[in-house]
Amino acid sequence: MSVRFFNSLTRSREPFLPLEPGRVRMYACGPTVYNFAHIGNFRTFVFVDALRRHLKWRGYELLHVMNLTDVDDKIIRDARAAGLPLREFTEKYIRHFWEDADALGIERPEVAPRATEHIPEMIALIGRLTRCGCAYHSDGSTYFRIASFPRYGALSGGKLAGNVAGASERVEADEYEKDDARDFALWKRSQPDEPAWDSPLGPGRPGWHIECSAMAMKYLGESLDIHCGGVDLMFPHHENEIAQSEGATGKPFAKYWLHAEHLLVNGRKMSKREGNYYTLRDLLERGYAARAVRYALVAVPYRKPLNFTLEGVEAAERRLKRLNETVRRLREAKSVVAEAADDAATTIAQARKAFGAAMDDDLNTAEALAAVAQLETAVNIALTRGELSEPFKRTALAAFDDVQTVLGILDPPEEALLDAAVEALIAERMAARQARNFARADAIRAQLAAQGVLLEDGKDGTRWRRA
Ligand SMILES: [Zn+2]
Repeated sequence: MSVRFFNSLTRSREPFLPLEPGRVRMYACGPTVYNFAHIGNFRTFVFVDALRRHLKWRGYELLHVMNLTDVDDKIIRDARAAGLPLREFTEKYIRHFWEDADALGIERPEVAPRATEHIPEMIALIGRLTRCGCAYHSDGSTYFRIASFPRYGALSGGKLAGNVAGASERVEADEYEKDDARDFALWKRSQPDEPAWDSPLGPGRPGWHIECSAMAMKYLGESLDIHCGGVDLMFPHHENEIAQSEGATGKPFAKYWLHAEHLLVNGRKMSKREGNYYTLRDLLERGYAARAVRYALVAVPYRKPLNFTLEGVEAAERRLKRLNETVRRLREAKSVVAEAADDAATTIAQARKAFGAAMDDDLNTAEALAAVAQLETAVNIALTRGELSEPFKRTALAAFDDVQTVLGILDPPEEALLDAAVEALIAERMAARQARNFARADAIRAQLAAQGVLLEDGKDGTRWRRA
């Protein structure tokens, strides 16, 4: 067994050797909770999920932390527009995030800290940076001094780091308060009508980048094994995380940096204006199964751009239907011969090995799914010819178990809902809607969708069907 990852920091494929043998400390940047996450976000979260599942399947003890950014400029703006206190506003989108993640079969990280619950840790880290000369105060805010960190830009290759316009999408008034335009805010002075925390830095709120450094180091220590996220976070967010963390500790922050590539929809950047913007809910509303969306997201290796199309999800649905049917027939088949033909047993063993090897190779999910197809073909041939033996069946089922543990794309039979349970949940959803508890009603829809049950609301009530 040798897991290898493409490390963005060294720009090379490296054997994975955690700092402590057998244990992995991993940090993934989580959602900013001011809206429903879109499928581009979920491409990254499904990649992180496959990564965590694969590491655990390979026997690593995993501690995976993912933050929830529940304070930033957009959140403050939208909470105000909704007329809600910050906490109440973000609570709602955190709940929706987990509902969507559950529907997609994404496992929960071991720790999911909220930024607003870690303000003291952030203030302490900024204090450390100020003492070592990496940070300075200016007009009520505190900034990181990029000139104090000569390695700045090592992750993104430096070419982006020099691009001031890229560094600060919006040129704000604070440009004039900084010593250098590239410097970024660690602590922002709050306007009188904005949420603020008292601190030795003055009343204000943390910048986005410091959140991740403070929470990663709190739960994972000053040096961690894997830091991952979407490629759009590489610069400036991850670059800034490195500068803050290493500036304060003098130790390497993360050993391996893994980045998921962009998702396009119909070949173009997703945007509301282009009409090609999807949340998971949009897709479930159209009747697509969450598991098919997951398949479409995971099937393309994470370092390749993914072109998401509805046709692609439909193809994934057809693919999964056949695959689930094969597994069901295999599970229900009575073995009819004492021993499998040698070639069939060999094919199964090889496909199983190829699946693991493909995932070891920087999570090559395309190769892994090709191995699943070989497995499926061998099983179908054995079933059709009536050449199924007990050992063959056992090995093949174990191979499908591997696939499910690592990729989470199959229908788990033990989770299949009985009709009565579906009806009971639909009745509960109806009651929730009448009580205007739409969050609960949405959660039940997502829960059913995750288990392949689709709802259609009509005049005469709700009808359902299995996907
Ligand atoms: Zn982050």
